[in-house]
Amino acid sequence: MNHHGSFQGSPPVPLNTAWASPGVGRTQRLRSRLAWLCAGLSILGAAATSDTAGQRLERALFDNGRSAYRIVVDAAASESERWAAGELQQWIAEVGGVRLPIETGAGQGDGPALHVGWSPKVRALLGGEKEAPADGDEAFRYLNVGESILIWGGRQRGTQYGVMSFLERELGVRFYTPSVTVAPRRNRWTFTALDHSEAPGIRVRNDFYFEAFDPIWAARNRVNGAMNPRVQPGGVEAYWSVHTFFPLVPPEEFFAEHPEYYSLIKGVRTHERAQLCLTNPEVLRILTDRLRRRMRESPEYLIYDVSQNDWAGPCECTDCRAIVDREGSQAGPVLEFVNRVADAVRDEFPGKFVGTLAYQYTRKPPAHIRPRDNVVVRFCSIECCFAHPFVECPKNRSFVEDMDGWARIAPHLYIWDYVVNFSHYVLPYPNFRVLAPNLRFFRDHRAIGIMEQGAYQSRGGEFAELRAYVLARLLWNPDAEVEPIISDFMHGYYGRAGQFVRAYFDLLHGRLTPDTHIHLGLRPDNVLFSADFIDEAGRLFDQAEIVADTEEVRRRVELARLPLLYLKCKRTPVLAREDGTYARFTEIARREGVDHYAESGEPHRRRFHSEVEAAR
Ligand SMILES: [Zn+2]
Ligand SMILES: [Zn+2]
Repeated sequence: MNHHGSFQGSPPVPLNTAWASPGVGRTQRLRSRLAWLCAGLSILGAAATSDTAGQRLERALFDNGRSAYRIVVDAAASESERWAAGELQQWIAEVGGVRLPIETGAGQGDGPALHVGWSPKVRALLGGEKEAPADGDEAFRYLNVGESILIWGGRQRGTQYGVMSFLERELGVRFYTPSVTVAPRRNRWTFTALDHSEAPGIRVRNDFYFEAFDPIWAARNRVNGAMNPRVQPGGVEAYWSVHTFFPLVPPEEFFAEHPEYYSLIKGVRTHERAQLCLTNPEVLRILTDRLRRRMRESPEYLIYDVSQNDWAGPCECTDCRAIVDREGSQAGPVLEFVNRVADAVRDEFPGKFVGTLAYQYTRKPPAHIRPRDNVVVRFCSIECCFAHPFVECPKNRSFVEDMDGWARIAPHLYIWDYVVNFSHYVLPYPNFRVLAPNLRFFRDHRAIGIMEQGAYQSRGGEFAELRAYVLARLLWNPDAEVEPIISDFMHGYYGRAGQFVRAYFDLLHGRLTPDTHIHLGLRPDNVLFSADFIDEAGRLFDQAEIVADTEEVRRRVELARLPLLYLKCKRTPVLAREDGTYARFTEIARREGVDHYAESGEPHRRRFHSEVEAAR
């Protein structure tokens, strides 16, 4: 079973390589892999000699409600490692019906143990030569040495991810949603030889769905990115703010005395729909001082934003213009400015980044200037078609060109990607086929972080639970096969009804052709949605509801059906009102706490209801 896109069949990824980012040289990676493989072989050898010669022993972690094992964590274990030990205890108890004791420290005896986290004991069991992984290393490995099971990675998150992987891969536990975990009951679980390791494909993984903000669910599913810091086992890597030119150099504070700090537009200095004059040395000094203060006051972020306001209006003064002419892009003056800020804060804040946008009028990469090592360029896919992978759709050609250009010159990119229909969160949106290829495209273009913007204000976005779950797995491993993940979710989350929900999912995605391009404003009157489609989809959901195993599962099916009801209300409001579709939509939305049908929230919700109710 390989539901989770592990690295089966490929060499284990070296633990000592910090992040599996494309920045790591190929040769270096190969060399580490070789060293790693050799280390692995010697470990397996040691294990083999401790077994009875010529045969592999089958060992039981638990059998018929009994276990000889205990869980051991080092006295110096981190908070997240202790949390992970508790997770291991809880889910083994759910699956096997036996609660293993947790011991802290070297442990009382030498009986069989699950060692959680790196420790002197683990080091000794591995032969005493391996070094501890770096604290921030998210890679992990678990294996057995004789009867002992060792799970370790970096202290901050590596170990906890190793524990989650063990629970998922070995015991079949699934953390589908914040409220639904499936832990299949087993009488007995045995192993002969364990050895599995993984490393993240993307360093900062921001699954921006309402469902994914639950800190425990996020920690279990290896989501480590956030807009703002939140308390979560292992912590998060946060990106401070966006559109910060004016927040950092406010016009109300400076414009009256110093209009020259702001854009010169058509011969006049202005701050209306304008930016900063980026070649003014005083602007650089003020902004740098304030950013430095922000970094000192809030050191918990990984990346600090210095970027354009959310409109155009760049400065047209002679000095700014000269850089634009030289670079062939408005990104020129922005990047030259941001590089200087990054140089000024580098020594005091090692490991931190200054982030800026490549967005709308600055999306085209500059011709000569290069971002510094401690600069992150945040690149946005807002204009794209999401029916077809970026590289396969002619509508996305200029986006791909700009991305290629930035990846050639920027050491680090951070992607702001969109996986949702902003205008109608609650409308069928068949974009699942692009999720993996687009993530691989970003990974191959030097993305150290990806934010997948979904329905983030309330529950009930179209297939929100499924998308949040699939995205979490793909952000960790963009090479994971999507199909088995979706099938597993359909079966595990919807039970017997899953086959019909899946048939609907396939019906919807089958509507796509090479000519149907979809954007984040897809409308209910789109050619994808015919009357036949709505009828057939309705029949599939009827069947799903009939076979739902429990009332709770039937409610999950209803939530999945909500977008279809919404579609019918938008397209044929009179009919929807008369045949009960509208009443049903309203009831489900209320029951499930779905209060955002679009990003714009309450005004959209009110308009939807008044339009359906007033239709004649
Ligand atoms: Zn200027
Ligand atoms: Zn397209």
